[in-house]
Amino acid sequence: MVEIGAALTALRTAYDTAKAAKEVNDQASLNAAVSNIMERLTSAQFTLTEVLQEHHALLDENRRLREAQAKEARFDQYEPERTERGAFVLRLKPSSTEPDEILHAICPDCREGGVLSYLSEDEYGLSCFRCKYYASKKARPPRFKKRSRIVSPRMV
Ligand SMILES: [Zn+2]
Repeated sequence: MVEIGAALTALRTAYDTAKAAKEVNDQASLNAAVSNIMERLTSAQFTLTEVLQEHHALLDENRRLREAQAKEARFDQYEPERTERGAFVLRLKPSSTEPDEILHAICPDCREGGVLSYLSEDEYGLSCFRCKYYASKKARPPRFKKRSRIVSPRMV
């Protein structure tokens, strides 16, 4: 980190040199004083340029951190919920619900990656279209089974 004190010291030295140069009567001493002042001003300018670059870098970092913090804060309004069959989802806290908002759930796996992904929900479970996470609520009824063909005695 660049020290702004170095720039201030260089400016102070330049000021003191200029103040002392007012009393100088010979050209050689005056030239040396002017040269010293220019060197100090150049040094201060260089240091202040570095300070300005660091300032901009810190502003960028601050903006990125604020964005990340705001993105993370979206998850504060959700709480873990266990389904009837033991799977986990993140459900919107009732206290965070806006009027007319559904008490939806989001995917816990996507949340770990910093992504807010709404879950689709039906009576059997909740599913994430993004990562295919599935939280079962209750067993699905058995699928339609092919009936075994009944051979009529008349056809034989
Ligand atoms: Zn997901």
